[in-house]
Amino acid sequence: MKFLKIFLLFILSTTSLFSSVVLLEKIELKKGELRLQFNRSYDKKKIRHFALIKPYREVFDIKNTRLANRQVGKNLKSSHCRSLRVSQYKKNVVRVVIETDKSYACTPYRPLFSHKYYHIPLPKFTARKIQKQVKKPYKKLKKKAKKQKKKKAYLTSSAAASATRYHKNELIVIDAGHGGYDTGAIAAGKREKDLVLQIAKKLEKQLKRRGYSVYMTRKRDRFLKLPQRTRIADKKDAKVFISIHANSVPKRKRNKVHGVETFFLQTTRDAKSQRIAARENRAVLKGAGSKLSKQVIIDSVLNGPKIVQSNKLAIDVQRGMMTNLRSHYRGVKDGGVRSAPFWVLVGASRPSILVEVGYISNPKERKRLFTAKYQELIAKGIAGGINRYLTNRKKEIDF
Ligand SMILES: [Zn+2]
Repeated sequence: MKFLKIFLLFILSTTSLFSSVVLLEKIELKKGELRLQFNRSYDKKKIRHFALIKPYREVFDIKNTRLANRQVGKNLKSSHCRSLRVSQYKKNVVRVVIETDKSYACTPYRPLFSHKYYHIPLPKFTARKIQKQVKKPYKKLKKKAKKQKKKKAYLTSSAAASATRYHKNELIVIDAGHGGYDTGAIAAGKREKDLVLQIAKKLEKQLKRRGYSVYMTRKRDRFLKLPQRTRIADKKDAKVFISIHANSVPKRKRNKVHGVETFFLQTTRDAKSQRIAARENRAVLKGAGSKLSKQVIIDSVLNGPKIVQSNKLAIDVQRGMMTNLRSHYRGVKDGGVRSAPFWVLVGASRPSILVEVGYISNPKERKRLFTAKYQELIAKGIAGGINRYLTNRKKEIDF
């Protein structure tokens, strides 16, 4: 009964929030967090959190809120961030922007017993500090590694055990690009459709090892229409949709252009992204089956919240691949996270990304791409990124 009363009070207090504006009274830096203090309990659903890139920014739009006075959020500085900005973005929207040198896992929360507060963790280290760690004498690192080995073995086995318990109901759809008569890019007799299927199969194993359920849009060399690929993801109610591709450029550029890129759906003015999208979209544009204009479909999904989530997923996956590849290979180029209007991602109603694992037109990268070791590193990187994204997402929802 007591609980019921508290529950009713809670509902009353949250519904009253919709009627009047909340004041943001104070923002301070404490224990590596940005701590926001409101004049009363606020509705955390009114806070929209998303990331922007180039430069990397964590952005919070706090709706139904006003700054209590002009001094709130002024002169905030942290050595871990490029800048911290707070502004009355719109009449009733306060915007907080954290700009950093690179992306980081930012999981804000409302402390359990003080509902007037909202805590946003800042990155834990600066780019400079990481470099210092790498420069440590090799011998010392080796010693440390030996010590940690035993610990690690224990950790991974327990992590694997908990993984199988928790992720069974989380389905990941892996889409190996092209297939059948659609070979994708070809260079020196090597075909994109074969490469991406090999990597997709390795990714399937990696995700299953982490306890996830996996569905493959194709397991062999067959043709699938692009809309069919995401429809499967919707039908199966997947958590994440990931399409795997390899890139290619014309002959005169083949020695120069290489690297790993991850895309999420969005219209773009970036000429390079447009070119890549045009190439990957060819299979759909050829078929006159779809009468809907491209722009209409893109617009219909553009405004969905999935873009923010897809952007986050893309950042985690790109980082996972780069970390793994660079730990074993020199000169792997980070092509970064970009947006492009890919047809295969249109209509996907869940976080969806497209990975270009490398350029098969580049002789050096092609050689690497067709080795089991390189493929394994890519697969592990993608799986790690997906796992990281989903874990952070859960924290976001639960807090
Ligand atoms: Zn492709």
